[in-house]
Amino acid sequence: MKKTLSFLVVCSALSASAQTKFAQLDIELPTPNEYRTAAGAPGHNYYQQKADYKMNLTLDDTKQIIRGEEVITYTNNSPDVLEYLWLQLDQNIFKADSDSKLIAVEKMEDFESIKDVERKLMTFEGGFNIEMVATVNGEKMRYAINKTMMRIDPAKPLGPKQSISFKIKWWYNINDRMKFGGRSGYEYFEKEDNYLYTIAQFFPRMCVYNDVEGWQNKQFLGKGEFTLPFGDYEVSITVPSDHIVAGTGELQNGASVMTAEQRSRMDKAKISNTPILIVTQAEAENAEKNKATGTKTWTYKAKNVRDFAFATSRKFMWDAQNTVVKGKNILCMSFYPKEGNPLWERYSTKLVAHTIQTYSKYTIDYTYPVAISVHSNQIGMEYPMICFNGGRPNEDGTYSEQTKYGMWGVIIHEVGHNFFPMIINSDERQWSWMDEGLNTFVQYLTEQEWERGYPSRRGPAAMITDYMRGDQKFISPIMTNSESIWQFGNNAYGKPATALNILRETIMGRELFDFAFKTYCERWKFKHPTPADFFRTMEDASGVDLDWFWRGWFYSTEYVDISLDYVKNFELNSNNPEIEKAENKKAADSRPQFIGDARNKESIKQTVNERDTLIDDFYAKRDIYQVDRLDKKEYEELQSKLTPEQKKILESKKQFYELSFTNKGGLVTPLIIQATFEDGSTKVINIPAEIWKMDDITVTKVLIFDKPVVSFQLDPFLETADCDVNNNAFPPTSKPTRFQLFQQKQGNENPMQRQKRLESGN
Ligand SMILES: [Zn+2]
Repeated sequence: MKKTLSFLVVCSALSASAQTKFAQLDIELPTPNEYRTAAGAPGHNYYQQKADYKMNLTLDDTKQIIRGEEVITYTNNSPDVLEYLWLQLDQNIFKADSDSKLIAVEKMEDFESIKDVERKLMTFEGGFNIEMVATVNGEKMRYAINKTMMRIDPAKPLGPKQSISFKIKWWYNINDRMKFGGRSGYEYFEKEDNYLYTIAQFFPRMCVYNDVEGWQNKQFLGKGEFTLPFGDYEVSITVPSDHIVAGTGELQNGASVMTAEQRSRMDKAKISNTPILIVTQAEAENAEKNKATGTKTWTYKAKNVRDFAFATSRKFMWDAQNTVVKGKNILCMSFYPKEGNPLWERYSTKLVAHTIQTYSKYTIDYTYPVAISVHSNQIGMEYPMICFNGGRPNEDGTYSEQTKYGMWGVIIHEVGHNFFPMIINSDERQWSWMDEGLNTFVQYLTEQEWERGYPSRRGPAAMITDYMRGDQKFISPIMTNSESIWQFGNNAYGKPATALNILRETIMGRELFDFAFKTYCERWKFKHPTPADFFRTMEDASGVDLDWFWRGWFYSTEYVDISLDYVKNFELNSNNPEIEKAENKKAADSRPQFIGDARNKESIKQTVNERDTLIDDFYAKRDIYQVDRLDKKEYEELQSKLTPEQKKILESKKQFYELSFTNKGGLVTPLIIQATFEDGSTKVINIPAEIWKMDDITVTKVLIFDKPVVSFQLDPFLETADCDVNNNAFPPTSKPTRFQLFQQKQGNENPMQRQKRLESGN
């Protein structure tokens, strides 16, 4: 692979698509205006609506019904006159004839067992029963229900800067989450006849009205979550008197719902930086057995939140600790039944505090007074200040490593949702990635600060490659509406989290990225950002043109696969005949011999010129490797014309390498090239993605070193999500795969159970 450098012609066909890949996102993004600037910030006339709620709720623990009366005060901060108001009726997804049930694509193979059939035939009288919509004076208001949406028509249109208050009375049957699924509902504990309720999207809630969507009244089909305006909440929840309640906001009447003992424990917890139990396991187990008959009303207030959720059960243990963000105390709490232990008492609240701290560092300071994690079998779901998280050990108190990391991950993730989308309030119904992707990215940072080497499922570039190089039929661009996304988790969580990680580690660098990301968070906290606001801010605050990156990673399904096709090595010709002629001779002597020549040496006993001495002339006799007087003279003349710098270069023995790359996956990407030298030392060269700006299929690059290179490795630190690393090395390398002829049997026993067995001598 070594050649002598005489001259090089770089010739490559220009690719028409390279221009498209680096085109600015002018057509794709909305035109900047007075509400949203071209820099990605809220514009000088940015506005948003406000929705305040006063609610009285009653839980019927015998029939699993929730009843509510709410007064909504809606303030129109827009410059527009609103003839009607739209509200979300998310519970209607549980109606027997809901669209989400009708549009579910099914095949007969979905009905393989009697359980499948049973589930399909199971009926549940779900959905809202709206009993009254009226003005605060009691006059009935006209309304229309369109599946999961309700339109209310005020007597006269609501003008700019005007407010309207109205009352809604409703009830619904709470779904059994373990049977019918859902983000909220109840879990029934049959042995002891107790319920654990996690209640959310449970009341008619105002839709967002803004400059982007008008009314965001796109039907709730199940995947696209909730888009809600900010407001202040005052909520009273009446539950059995032995229930412990966790709700969005600050508890207003601890004195009437908590015992003196619990309140004194809470006082200690509020100044403790480790969790303190407010309700112990023994106390919770006692409540489970002795069911109370009376009721208690828990009252909460929450300011500037976009929603309200709560959990209630007599099974709850409760612990709390304080954490401080920029001088502000934040009460971190967990609520869990004994079934969550030993994991929950040990980890949950510590994870809440750690998440609040880490997210505050990378995004915005957490401004709410509390942050709560509630144990809820199997799911993970987020609401302002409160979230419901899975992670349940086995009944024998052991748990698999997967359960532990699953619980840690889900708590960090759901508590992290306080930032995206509860505070940085993107439109979830339209774009799942804007909250899930950004949240999963900061989740990764938070996990890494929780445990060194934390096996994060999403974030590192190499974890996304299986997905990205998969069957294109089942891959959607990130910029796809929430309802139409193939492979939801990979698309809305994994890929955007990876993309941000690549921006941070490789394309922008940590300093520029962190500043721009924080700028986006600061600009849009307690506001409604769109994808364009994010894309624009990240560029505007960093000075890095990222249009090609958004285009490739967010608008396409292309993937990174760069192959290092060849490496050619060149050395400078010294022009010194003494050196060059000797080199040429060495090269000629070491050239492999043609097989015919070798055989002819034996088979042709004598050629004509060997026999007849008159055949060989000047050319046959001369030694082309001989250095003569004229050669030397010409060399001296050339030397006399060179500057000292030019002489130095010629003597330097520099090594030239021409590397050729092919972009096989389509997605343009920086080239990270590691050269390893003969002496074992290495050097890394980072080439920005713009190397592909004229030709996005093939590029070549010349690298010059002082010493010979033995190998080149592309993407040596696995930072670009290159989907095929087998074509990344020169010379190519291959490692054997160890395969097993006999599969070891794996039982259901987890390693903790195995250890117990080991210790017991069985
Ligand atoms: Zn999430």
